[in-house]
Amino acid sequence: MRNPEELLKEIEREIRSCRKCDLWKTKENYVPGEGNPLSKIVFIGEAPGKEEDRQGRPFVGRAGKLLESYMRDYLGLERKDVFICNILKCRPPGNRDPQEDEIHECFPYLQRQLQAIQPQIIVCLGRFATGTLFDHLSIPFSGISRVRGKLFRIKAWSDAVLIPVYHPAAVLYRKQLEKEFSMDFEKIAELLNAVKNRKKLKESKLSDFI
Ligand code: URA
Repeated sequence: MRNPEELLKEIEREIRSCRKCDLWKTKENYVPGEGNPLSKIVFIGEAPGKEEDRQGRPFVGRAGKLLESYMRDYLGLERKDVFICNILKCRPPGNRDPQEDEIHECFPYLQRQLQAIQPQIIVCLGRFATGTLFDHLSIPFSGISRVRGKLFRIKAWSDAVLIPVYHPAAVLYRKQLEKEFSMDFEKIAELLNAVKNRKKLKESKLSDFI
């Protein structure tokens, strides 16, 4: 079997010539995602914003800086240690919401990325990423504020725990979300510890799987 790095490179090459929806016409750069192909943890956002489109890299604007600081402070990880990507690999013009057809065409790239990496922890950043993955997994989505911080055991691309959290951009604009965002990162830190210590997740303190 080919290694995760090769597989990710191949997916990236395909993304860079993708014309499956119209977003390629208005984007400046494709933003396939980046990071450690062997990471146990993957962060998934919505779609590239202006700065991400300009640089061709995910989460490099203000929301990205916030995400990086929580990763560093709570998880002891730098962005190069983890894999970060989005549901959409091109920026919707003016940061409008992604459309059904765009998600439909782009989602297989994310699926293949997850298949290649085989993460044990999937962090969904915000309502859009969470809603899209829940839809695919047939998990009812009752809104980000209801599901954030909950753990969902999924056996789709790998045997993993999915945890939805608020989108870092929402935390930037609504300071009152910081407390819950911090609590959720504490939970992610516990999950990472359990994974690192090769404890079965069931045996860890985290007993509230859905
Ligand atoms: N918001 C996202 O959802 N993704 C990015 O890459 C940047 C901002």
